[in-house]
This record gives sequence, structure tokens and C-alpha cells, in this order.
Amino acid sequence: MAEAPPMVRELYKDENGREAERTYAPGDFLGKGGFARCYSLTCVETGETVAAKIIAKTSLAKPKARLKFMSELKIHQSLRHPRIVQFYHYFEDASNHYMLLELCSNHTLSTLLKRRKRLAEHEVRYYVKQLLEGVQYLHSKCIIHRDLKLGNLLLTDNMQLKIGDFGLASHLDSRAEKRKTMCGTPNYIAPEILNGAKNDGHSFEVDIWSTGVVMYTLLVGKPPFETSDVKDTYKRIRSNTYNFPDTVSISQEARSLIRAMLDNDPRHRPTITQILSHSFFEADAVPRLLPSSSLHMTPPRP
Ligand code: ADP
Repeated sequence: MAEAPPMVRELYKDENGREAERTYAPGDFLGKGGFARCYSLTCVETGETVAAKIIAKTSLAKPKARLKFMSELKIHQSLRHPRIVQFYHYFEDASNHYMLLELCSNHTLSTLLKRRKRLAEHEVRYYVKQLLEGVQYLHSKCIIHRDLKLGNLLLTDNMQLKIGDFGLASHLDSRAEKRKTMCGTPNYIAPEILNGAKNDGHSFEVDIWSTGVVMYTLLVGKPPFETSDVKDTYKRIRSNTYNFPDTVSISQEARSLIRAMLDNDPRHRPTITQILSHSFFEADAVPRLLPSSSLHMTPPRP
């Protein structure tokens, strides 16, 4: 367990321009990322509890790290949607930057899958549909997330999925613009990002690819291209080598949707509207809510 931060003090100017202070009491350690440590914080004055992403200023010494942080802040602040972790407020003190976010107390889909091993198809329908709603909103604002993976998909206390971590997100000025930077997480990275230097860059379709990886992982219990060596994983992604293990029963509809999203040619991947009207979603009802008992065991079908 990481060390809890001391009481956090925010100095600000009130509506009359006078110096004022808010105090936050630290709570649970929520998780750790590349730069950030996350804790729950309760505002002593209002009693409101939020998640705080705390980034030590010393970790942003390199200009590249600082630019990444500033881009994350700018993009996340601009978003407002039920499927996106809500950004509330930013402040800094002498040592840290603080991003106050909507608290997602049921952790991430990664912790859920570790507990459950794999999920039933109706649960996958529920989570993937919510993920697509969030991705649809981001793309409508010309934002590519570029790091959709189980650890960045959070769950609220009433089991609502929220997309988080905009550290690798990119805002495109137009639908036609392409990005060339290599980024993403090895298991979830799209082939056109790996081939970036050779072709003409990547765009919104990389989020469809990683949604395909998320869907496969939830159903099978491990990512499709996983190996013990990152280089081998990249080879498998380039050659589109994955299979559906015989030991797990997966419907034809689910297989067909995963295959479509994991098409090596980004131009051939389905659009979000096409995915939502695919037979995988049409075959059976999508649950409206999942009980929190589904953190530990398969919930009943709707
Ligand atoms: P980084 O950008 O450094 O990778 P993340 O944004 O991924 O950091 O946060 C690290 C971890 O903190 C996440 O994997 C998650 O476990 C936890 N976390 C992040 N945001 C929240 C939140 N809003 N509510 C609850 N836990 C969170």
C-alpha cells in the first residue's frame, strides 16, 4: 500500500477576491499509474468525497512529461459525458499537481476480471455498449483516446462504466488529420500504430481496435495477442494471429464482431453505429443495470 498523502490544502481566491482555503482529508489509496498516485479525498468544508490524481512536480522534470500532463489536463477538462470520468477541478501546491475527479469506487474492469476470470456474454454486452457510448462522444469531439484498456475503464458504485486516463489522448483538428506518434499499451496497440513510420499514420479506428481487444479479453480472460515477450506480441498483432480457445464457449455473434473490430486494415473496421447494430447486440437484451454482486459472481441474465 502506498503512503497516504498528508492533509491537502488548496489556497484560492473567493468570489470577493479574498485569499481562502479548502482542506481535504486523505482516504483510501485507489491506484497508481505512470506518473500519478490516486487517493480518495474528502473536502473537510463540504464533506464531498472525490478521487484525486496526484502528480509530483518532480516527476514532470522532462519537457516531454510536462507536455503530456498539460495535454491530459486540457483534454480531460473539456469533457462532459455520463461515460467519461467527470473532471471537477484542478489545483497545485509547492510539491504536487492535483486533478479532482469523479470517484469510481468499484475500481476498474481489470480488477473485476482478475476476480471473475472471465465474464458472461450479457455482461460483456453491457460493458462494451457503455464503452462505445463513451468512445462515440470522444470521437464526436475529434478526440482519440489511444489507450483504451481494462485498467482505464472504471466502475462507479452503481456499476456504471466510465472511461478514464486521457494521458495519451489526442485532439485532431479535422477528421482527415492523422497522428504518427507511437503510443498505447503493448497488448492493446493497433497494427497501424506499430507500422506508423511506414504508412500514413493512425486515426479514430485505433479506438475500435482496442475495443475489440477489450471485448475479447472480457470473454476469454486474457488478451488476444498476449505473449511473454513484447516483440512477439507485436509480431502477432502485425500478422493478426489470435484464436478463440476451445475451452471457452463464445457465440458466433461475439466471434464475428471481434473479428470485424480486429481487422488489420483500419478502413475495414466497423463504425460505432455499425457495431451497435451488430447481431451480438441485437441477439439478446442488453442489461440496463448490473448488481454489485457481479463484482464476485455471474449476475442473472436480463
Ligand atoms: P496514469 O495516468 O498515471 O496512468 P491513471 O489515471 O491510470 O494514472 O490512474 C491510476 C490508477 O488510479 C487507475 O488504474 C485506477 O486504479 C485509479 N484511479 C484513477 N482514477 C480514478 C477514479 N476517478 N476513481 C477511482 N480510482 C481511480
